[in-house]
Amino acid sequence: MKVPFALPECGEAETNEVVEVIKSGWLTTASRAFEFENRFKEFTGAKYCLAVNSCTAALHLGLEALGIKRGDKVIVPVHTFTATAEVLRYLDADPVFVDCDKDTFCISIPELQQKIAEDNLKRQIKAVIPVHFGGHSCDMDHVIDISRKAALSVIEDAAHAFPAFYVSSNENGEEKRRIIGKIGDVTCFSFYANKTITTAEGGMLATDNEAIARRAKVMRLHGIDRDVWDRFGSLKSDWIYDVVAPGFKYNMPDLSAALGIHQLRKANLFREKREKIAQRYYDELSGIDGLTLPKIKCSMKDHAWHIFAILIDSRYSKHSLNRDDFILKMKEKNIGTSVHYIPLHRLTYYRNRYNLQPEMFPNSEWIFQRCVSLPIYSAMTEDQIEYVICSIQKILN
Ligand SMILES: *Cc1c(COP(=O)(O)O)cnc(C)c1O
Repeated sequence: MKVPFALPECGEAETNEVVEVIKSGWLTTASRAFEFENRFKEFTGAKYCLAVNSCTAALHLGLEALGIKRGDKVIVPVHTFTATAEVLRYLDADPVFVDCDKDTFCISIPELQQKIAEDNLKRQIKAVIPVHFGGHSCDMDHVIDISRKAALSVIEDAAHAFPAFYVSSNENGEEKRRIIGKIGDVTCFSFYANKTITTAEGGMLATDNEAIARRAKVMRLHGIDRDVWDRFGSLKSDWIYDVVAPGFKYNMPDLSAALGIHQLRKANLFREKREKIAQRYYDELSGIDGLTLPKIKCSMKDHAWHIFAILIDSRYSKHSLNRDDFILKMKEKNIGTSVHYIPLHRLTYYRNRYNLQPEMFPNSEWIFQRCVSLPIYSAMTEDQIEYVICSIQKILN
């Protein structure tokens, strides 16, 4: 038995659509990309959805459209992938790092509040990038509330969170369930090969803000503004264009969108399959000494279940196994695992440039030393799920 850490689930529909695109002779952005955008709009209810070639590109475009520029600062959780922070450097802006919540691994609300308070006089912080870790929504009521009071934009890194939901309740106790993509100013999704739906490489920028959408659309493709020319009405020869800014090359090719259209149709089904795997892990791995299951603050059905990160604590494990030993034992059994994440304060570039020390981020550091992510994807077979569970029980018992 072999269980890879991640595996995309593409069927005949995807294969046929890709072949059709190839046969059509037009491989890059056209009707399939537009169709994918429209369907994504229907799915999320976001007014504007722009398909791009990565979530990193969506974050870059979103920040640029929000007006983030040289010298600005933007709050980023330290417990994330480098893409969340690197995009700020593209704009000559800088991340301000905050610790994460010990249970959800999402941005720590008290730490967020404190960083903004510290910035009070200088007013350099312009935005916040919450990351919905593993597919668990951040505490968005607090993120939005704190940000609005300080006049900060909110751009969500939703690379793990498709589809995921945030449920809040008002003073009367009435619940409001919103899909991730309809909450902050901008939301960025990833369709990288190991994400919850895939286009091989790809991403989506979702927003309800027309000005942001317009700017991001222009910057997505070289800063070319065809609408400027369209205003002249008759002058619509297709060789004519104008460039209004030094834009980027972030459009999604139809070859990728062909996958996306069909993956999107299965997004709810895929999520349900992952939820079932998560439920199996909860049912069958609870009560093992030295193993802590994810502590969620949402209901099972609101979680995208992109990552299932358990904690291994050698002090409580019968065999004094630490996380690294556990990963090796799993590897011996041909089971792929991963670590989400090596926090940014441990990576040379961020550590040196921002003078970061582990003591500054005790929660993230504590998690990093114990966390390991188990396989969780729709293409996992019943036998594979069973094998992962039995192997863990054997390793830790
Ligand atoms: C995967 C990922 C990204 C980057 O997504 P790409 O589509 O590969 O650019 C950004 N942030 C997080 C948290 C991710 O996991």
